[in-house]
Amino acid sequence: MLAEILLDKKKYQIDLLKPISLALPFVPYGRNVNCYYAEEPTADVITIGDFVGSVALGGSVNYQRVSLTTHGNGTHTECLGHITDDTTHVMSSIHKRSFFKAQIISIRPRQFEEDSIITLNDIHQYYDQDFKPEALIIRSLPNDYNVKAQAQYSYTNPTYLEPACGDWLARRNVKHLIVDLPSVDREVDAGALSVHRGFWQTETDSPRLDATISEMAFVPQNAPDGKYFLQLSWPNWSTDAAPSSILVYKVTEESSL
Ligand SMILES: [Zn+2]
Repeated sequence: MLAEILLDKKKYQIDLLKPISLALPFVPYGRNVNCYYAEEPTADVITIGDFVGSVALGGSVNYQRVSLTTHGNGTHTECLGHITDDTTHVMSSIHKRSFFKAQIISIRPRQFEEDSIITLNDIHQYYDQDFKPEALIIRSLPNDYNVKAQAQYSYTNPTYLEPACGDWLARRNVKHLIVDLPSVDREVDAGALSVHRGFWQTETDSPRLDATISEMAFVPQNAPDGKYFLQLSWPNWSTDAAPSSILVYKVTEESSL
């Protein structure tokens, strides 16, 4: 099912039958990726009187109460409501569009004493300034699924982005930033949140209400670096963040109009 997308005086072809998911699985009571000291996600069977919400236990349907910590239990997308006190800054308010021109880049973090950092210099080097991606997807190296899908990040000072990256990406109008890290900022940074603040431009007169950051994604090896279209979606939740579906489709042909 080939689709042609006309955008910015270019024609791009993608195959809608070949989506690649960048979301990690979510397994209640399983061994999930975890960060920021979150409890494990659970899915408890609900019982009401004679009703039991488990077919295995004799009930007519499975009916469970799921408990999760959005920022701590897996792949999620957040909006600027994550760092503002304005209660209108929620995921449901930015549900306008879900298809974006995207670029995947792979970067090996650099070590600075006890810190592992993805530098602006490296992002700058791989960012495609002719393609002008609306979404930038950063795969950190090494990229071992078994490590990233089960990583327990709390107290480990995991890899993060150099503070200047957020503002730099905002100035290039990158609307959606997707990383396979627990946060774009340092685990403990005394609330500086420089990449979050820079990306959302919260310190300016025009904060970016429709920009999002997705964390703890996983970019599989069958999605090599290059040009894609991103299909990014989340439930209609009035919260600062939500679990998200992140699909990419590789650009298979490109021509000028
Ligand atoms: Zn988060």
